[in-house]
Amino acid sequence: MADELNCPVIEINSVHKRFVMGENIVHALKGVSMKVEQGEYIAILGPSGSGKSTLMNIIGCMDTYDEGEYKLMSISIDKLNDKQLTIIRNRLIGFIFQKYHLVSTYSVLQNVMMPLLARGESYKEAEAKAKEKLALLEMSERIHHKPNELSGGQQQRAAIARALIGEPKLLLADEPTGALDTKTGEEVLKLFRTLNDMGHTIVMITHDLKVASHAQRIVRIVDGEIVEQ
Ligand code: ADP
Ligand code: MG
Repeated sequence: MADELNCPVIEINSVHKRFVMGENIVHALKGVSMKVEQGEYIAILGPSGSGKSTLMNIIGCMDTYDEGEYKLMSISIDKLNDKQLTIIRNRLIGFIFQKYHLVSTYSVLQNVMMPLLARGESYKEAEAKAKEKLALLEMSERIHHKPNELSGGQQQRAAIARALIGEPKLLLADEPTGALDTKTGEEVLKLFRTLNDMGHTIVMITHDLKVASHAQRIVRIVDGEIVEQ
């Protein structure tokens, strides 16, 4: 795909997002611009209400914006229909959430296989790749467990395996340590560092400076504006 061109993973130019609430308009993003190159590990840091989730939803192609431009791997996102957006999310982005978002009735292995089954790969192939990613995350012993039989740290490692399995161009993590104790959180952040060393591009959203300090670069957002790159 476009990565041979060595294009930026993320290019956002003057993006505005407004929410209409009855008589009130909340201007959640006020002309945000940022660029993330392949292989970067950045943290988007900002206090509650600053626009982090709004920005994350746009980066993750889960929400639209009102003005400006967003390109993911050189693809103009605002020109795509819902079906194309679903494919883009499945192919280009690996999502990691604060609360893991694992399917509780599925085993760890089945959870990790899901993105590949969704794109039509064979069960056998998906299973082999899932086992490989789970081994990388030191989860081989737990593949037949259900999420509620695992610790928070183990659930997050399973979720990271699921995010990695489709070989995405971007790992997008929303407060990935927010539900973990300090020590387990540190382990997850160490893992992110290793994944970045392996070449993965990571964007992590957090309100916590200590967490953000693990990234190569911090982008600060305050009141819908980037204040520091
Ligand atoms: P953060 O994730 O940094 O806490 P958000 O992106 O959730 O910030 O919110 C930014 C601003 O936009 C806040 O003022 C919030 O109340 C408002 N906002 C976010 N989502 C909506 C929505 N769906 N409808 C109305 N206002 C929203
Ligand atoms: Mg938020």
